[in-house]
Amino acid sequence: MTQKICPDCGGTLVLDAWEQVHTEMNGTYEIESKLIRKCLLKCGYYEDAEDGESN
Ligand SMILES: [Zn+2]
Repeated sequence: MTQKICPDCGGTLVLDAWEQVHTEMNGTYEIESKLIRKCLLKCGYYEDAEDGESN
């Protein structure tokens, strides 16, 4: 896997799991989990890690 670099501060991006709860109007909900890459240097940058990994 290619090491990714933060475009904001140049720090190392690491893979992390990210979860988001979607609540529907009818009261049901589902939990979406996906992989992201986040900056180790806590600048707040993150990106979707699932895009571009299908090759
Ligand atoms: Zn950063």
